Amino acid sequence: MLFLDELPEFSRTTLEVLRQPLEEGHVTISRAFSSSTFPADFMLIAALNPCPCGYRGDPRRRCQCSVPQVERYMNKISGPLIDRIDIHIEVPPVPFRELRSQREGTSSESMRTQVLAAHRRQQERFAGSSTGVNARMRHKEVRKHCRLDASGEALLKQAMRELGLSARAHDKVLRVSRTIADLAGEEELQTAHISEAIGYRRLDRQF
Ligand SMILES: [Zn+2]
Repeated sequence: MLFLDELPEFSRTTLEVLRQPLEEGHVTISRAFSSSTFPADFMLIAALNPCPCGYRGDPRRRCQCSVPQVERYMNKISGPLIDRIDIHIEVPPVPFRELRSQREGTSSESMRTQVLAAHRRQQERFAGSSTGVNARMRHKEVRKHCRLDASGEALLKQAMRELGLSARAHDKVLRVSRTIADLAGEEELQTAHISEAIGYRRLDRQF
């Protein structure tokens, strides 16, 4: 697992180099007389603020950044890199009373059970192939395992148009939908699964 905190603080060239290993699971280093390929299969997790001061969209604090400053900050991450990240989510600040709340969320134990069951489903689905998990499905497998009904199809088409999703993002939405359905223990992809997966393409809306 590779965790990059404050993603826009990395140089753009450094970030662009990640595109090959993210896509192919290996990295090729070329020098004048030779080139070598090394395994580089990892899960990328990255965090960034919504703007340089960090308060954009926060209802309790005033963001001090100008529009060009915000644009410059966000532009450090290229569209093609964003495109290669499966899930983008916004994490709003947690209000104090919720921090102190006694209400319990999903326990780690029940989440573990859910994840193991979803993993088992994927092992059965891809038995005998090198795919292994939903995230690694090739386009042909996406078509086979992520069939949509008419309303799912219409929803995805609308999102493609409105968010300007690329063909890569289109397949990513379907792979993520497949995992959401697996976590819910459902065989068929439903509109709610597609809609949740589209909701995870947060950054496509800004680029
Ligand atoms: Zn700001």
